[in-house]
Amino acid sequence: MAKRDYYEVLGVPRTATPEEIKTAYRRLAREYHPDLNKANPKVAEEKFKELSEAYEVLADETKRRHYDAGGFSGVETDFGPGGFNWQNFTHAGDLEDLLGSSDFLQQLFAQAAGGGLFGGFSGGGPRWIRPELRGRDVEASIRVPLSAAVTGTTTMIDVPRTQTCPDCRGTGARNGTALETCPECHGTGQVRRTSRSGFTQMISIQECPRCHGTGQRIKERCPRCRGVGRIQEVRHLEVTVPPGIDDGGVLRLSGQGEGAPPSGQPGDLFVQVVFEPDSRFHREGRHAFTEVRVPLSVALMGGEVLVPTITGEASLRVPAGTQPERQFRLRGEGFPRLRGTDRGDLIVTVHVELPEGLTSHQKDLLREALGPPGTAPARSKTGFFSRRS
Ligand SMILES: [Zn+2]
Ligand SMILES: [Zn+2]
Repeated sequence: MAKRDYYEVLGVPRTATPEEIKTAYRRLAREYHPDLNKANPKVAEEKFKELSEAYEVLADETKRRHYDAGGFSGVETDFGPGGFNWQNFTHAGDLEDLLGSSDFLQQLFAQAAGGGLFGGFSGGGPRWIRPELRGRDVEASIRVPLSAAVTGTTTMIDVPRTQTCPDCRGTGARNGTALETCPECHGTGQVRRTSRSGFTQMISIQECPRCHGTGQRIKERCPRCRGVGRIQEVRHLEVTVPPGIDDGGVLRLSGQGEGAPPSGQPGDLFVQVVFEPDSRFHREGRHAFTEVRVPLSVALMGGEVLVPTITGEASLRVPAGTQPERQFRLRGEGFPRLRGTDRGDLIVTVHVELPEGLTSHQKDLLREALGPPGTAPARSKTGFFSRRS
């Protein structure tokens, strides 16, 4: 695939702020997450890599400057001779927060790193100390009858999620106030480490290991969350499935993901819609296919038969002289488009049932009507029709 301009890939102007770049990346990464694009995983994976490369460059002040000044060759030295690969990607943690620790990501990074370059995906420490601004997104899936593709439906789901503890507002301290200044860093959240090598004294400033940079520690734990700052809950949510959704389509319920610390906003809930298998129908794009058996008498003399439709039944008029395997098209009985009004067609294949075990009286009648059986010469289809017309 031809290399596209990084700004174009992320759909941001060249003057975009780091925040805008990050937002664009998060949105697109979600859209092309290969776990949510099972129909076309290869394409999604390529897209995903393209996005991640663009983000790797534009999210980094130095690399972005190199790129602005010299284009793709400007960042060549940042990625080595082979160009960008997953080993160059430094935002694995962001992705994990965004997409959950999905199988796809695990595989991708394990593959890139030969195992463990990123040191696994679960950040250490209890979550309350991580200054995240946005709660984790949550994924769920629901099964709905095929008719929901036409009519839409609503269904209840149970979504387990971790929520900020309301009693302590995520601090883990009783009432949110039983906190005291960290004795190690005296509330600064940072500690200085000095080390000496020869005549040189090195001073480095690190996050305080005792309070993990918060500057405070819990004097008395919140009884509800036992000091963790988060609680598990199961929520019953109503999900509205719109007509026209595809099998495996994903709905986004914004703000229904996991909660975040007081200053943050909750993540989103992504619900994958899976249709219950219905062996009566076969789908090709917007069209549905089904089969129906009709008695020989109906095929010969005409009549009406009931055929299954996606939402119920319809009556099909079978004309006299209908040949086996003939197809009828019921216009507008197929699948709709999302937010569209027109529907595809339902194509019905007719199988003619031949009676078994005729009595000799019935055989006599048939002989009289159709002529004697036996060595009738084979007739080509065209010959047969031309003889009748
Ligand atoms: Zn609590
Ligand atoms: Zn401290």
